[in-house]
Amino acid sequence: MKLQTQNNFTTELPADPNQTNVPRQVHQSAFSFVVPKKPTNPSLIHASIDVANAIGLSQDDILSTDFLNTFSGSIIYPGTKPYAMPYAGHQFGNWAGQLGDGRAINLTEVVNDNKTYTLQLKGAGPTPYSRTADGFAVLRSSIREHLCAEAMHYLGVPTTRSLSLMLSGDQVLRDVLYKGNPAYEKGAIVCRVAPSFIRFGSFELFASREDHDNLKLLTDFTIKHHFPQIQKEGVEKYLAFFQEVTQTTLNMIVHWQRVGFVHGVMNTDNMSIHGITIDYGPYGWLEDYNSGWTPNTTDNQHKRYRFGNQPEIALWNLYQLANALYPLINDAKPLEAILEAYSTDYEKEYLNMMRDKLGFQIKKNQDVVLIQSLTQLLEKVETDMTIFFRNLSNVSKADAATTAFNTIKDAFYNEKDLDKTILKDWHDWFEKYSIRINEETLSDSERKNQMNTVNPKYVLRNYMAQLSIDDADKGNYSLLNELFEILKNPYEEQPNFQKWFAKRPDWARDKVGCSMLSCSS
Ligand code: AMP
Ligand code: MG
Repeated sequence: MKLQTQNNFTTELPADPNQTNVPRQVHQSAFSFVVPKKPTNPSLIHASIDVANAIGLSQDDILSTDFLNTFSGSIIYPGTKPYAMPYAGHQFGNWAGQLGDGRAINLTEVVNDNKTYTLQLKGAGPTPYSRTADGFAVLRSSIREHLCAEAMHYLGVPTTRSLSLMLSGDQVLRDVLYKGNPAYEKGAIVCRVAPSFIRFGSFELFASREDHDNLKLLTDFTIKHHFPQIQKEGVEKYLAFFQEVTQTTLNMIVHWQRVGFVHGVMNTDNMSIHGITIDYGPYGWLEDYNSGWTPNTTDNQHKRYRFGNQPEIALWNLYQLANALYPLINDAKPLEAILEAYSTDYEKEYLNMMRDKLGFQIKKNQDVVLIQSLTQLLEKVETDMTIFFRNLSNVSKADAATTAFNTIKDAFYNEKDLDKTILKDWHDWFEKYSIRINEETLSDSERKNQMNTVNPKYVLRNYMAQLSIDDADKGNYSLLNELFEILKNPYEEQPNFQKWFAKRPDWARDKVGCSMLSCSS
């Protein structure tokens, strides 16, 4: 197995001089060298061939002992020196101080096809940033990360990727719902891949300590290597950087809202500087379209990170990043201007995204009202988001409102919920929708094809992930493999897998892992 490695991050940024691996505050350093803990009996469960190819590896490489040893943390790849990064963050709206890679260890950067990747093991043992935790990860959360990161990629949502999923052969103690019932679970290690793992919180850490030298070093490094299109100098450079991060973050959120993804823990330490989805924890997929829903039981009370709040929270997080970058800019006005533009830009992008979902190519002013009334209707009774939008593409221009409504009826969880008023509202809505699609120039089948490129047929429903976890826990990985393959083509019909184009079964409604998840992982 041959990787073309480089180590820009660790050669250009300051290292923590202390190399003891004990939890502590680390100052004036961008990283601490740390060696992964040797797993007792590592084994490969699954690898993503596309990610392997992207970093220059083949199917044969995946099956090699080198691959197993390198991506389980058993050996250190020649010429590399693994490290963990400090960062800070606002958790659930509160300043949390130093956090950092508590169970993530960066292995190296890899260059392939003129692209640079950073490879990072998650769950490979403690680091100076582990605080009171153990540095490990369990099988269930690692499966959730591996499957979802790749599913998101194939959906076209910006995300970190996942190269491999391994068992460590060690046992890890976890209290799933924090109710005083700790139990041993199988330990696992995921190797995730991204341009870098620099977060909003990486900048917040230096800013909070008024360490402006290192704040500048990190920002200059980030721009030089990851935003090479920015050719400006001084304040203009930092503003252009903030502008780009705002834009890519906004873009990511529009995608989340399009596919019904709820991150669950949008703390500033979980926001990638690249505007890609990172840190798959207690995330979930909207089944019932409900803007107030969050899968994260830890957030049950305030539901800060609920589906409908994600755009606002991203903006709130961008404010924290703006504060962190302020010492490099020393002028609040242009930063505020960028932040203020976010809201109007978001509305515009959201509107266009919803137009796509509804099959509108022409932009009409009345679309805003039509979309608003639709989302209000979707909230009235339990309605499956994925099924609704996918089936909507089957509506024809010639359909009467009743026929059109029947096309999406499968999306309702309980038809008995549809009282007279709601039925009337739906009827009215479909009358307007019919007029609207008749204003479009595309034929029915062209519109359907178009809609089917933005409305997925298959998403990683929470219960699907849980079923594959239950099997994997018993050593059976066939469902995991099956889901991985289906989710590679989420917009294709795949008639053989039609059974996964179905509403959440009743047993999964209130089951741990399906509708209720915690940060315990
Ligand atoms: P998050 O849930 O992603 O916001 O994580 C918050 C912080 O807790 C991060 O610094 C993580 O690295 C750290 N963390 C989470 N789980 C563990 C663990 N098992 N061992 C060490 N650190 C952890
Ligand atoms: Mg995190």
